[in-house]
Amino acid sequence: MKGLIHSFESFGTKDGPGIRFVLFMQGCPLRCLYCHNVDTWNIKDYKKELTPEETFKEVFKIKNFIKTGGITISGGEPLTQPDFIKEVFRLCKENGIHTALDTSGYIFTNRAKEVLEYVDLVLLDIKHINPEKYKVLTSVNLAPTLKFAEYLQEINKPVWLRYVLVPGYSDDEKDLHEWAKYCSKFTNVERVDILPFHQMGTPKWEMMKRTYVLKDNKTPTKEEIIKAEDIFASYGLPVKLTNR
Ligand code: SF4
Repeated sequence: MKGLIHSFESFGTKDGPGIRFVLFMQGCPLRCLYCHNVDTWNIKDYKKELTPEETFKEVFKIKNFIKTGGITISGGEPLTQPDFIKEVFRLCKENGIHTALDTSGYIFTNRAKEVLEYVDLVLLDIKHINPEKYKVLTSVNLAPTLKFAEYLQEINKPVWLRYVLVPGYSDDEKDLHEWAKYCSKFTNVERVDILPFHQMGTPKWEMMKRTYVLKDNKTPTKEEIIKAEDIFASYGLPVKLTNR
């Protein structure tokens, strides 16, 4: 079995606790308007093909550096290749390495559930709470992600929720309240991050010759970010106040 991989990063600090080996899988069924990894969309554009054992060897090389962190498998959408990532996670767990899965939660299948058995932490993006607006933003349905989130609660899996704040798309005050109200019912959420939309992905859209709808979209101001953080916090969510 081989995994189709976009790339990996040995010292990631943004995708989970501590210093982490971050594996970016190729392939994603979503088409987020703000995606900054457009080059991961098409499975055929993979850059590396590795077995789980070969991947684990790369992780193991830096085991001393990731002692307080671990491995995060991201993408793309990593659950497009469930058998491969399950095996990588299994090998990591066997060797005492903390495992995190960074996902949109869109692929909620029995094989995804099997992957979760080897996952210590899920970084889950709930990109919008309104199904129509979610579809505009991602091109897919919201329902599987909410089912995924509810399953994570059922198995009491630790979760960090992430929300990209995009002016004009995901910053409506009423929607932010709805999102926070929905998420506040979960008892397994350890942290919530608001990620301000930025334009750093632009070169990749150009490189992939795709139409970047948000090319001229503004980025949120500090005040707008703080306002969103305050709304989330007012529902008791553990918002990481990184934007002050
Ligand atoms: S889920 Fe992630 S990789 Fe896929 S389109 Fe959305 S932002 Fe891009």
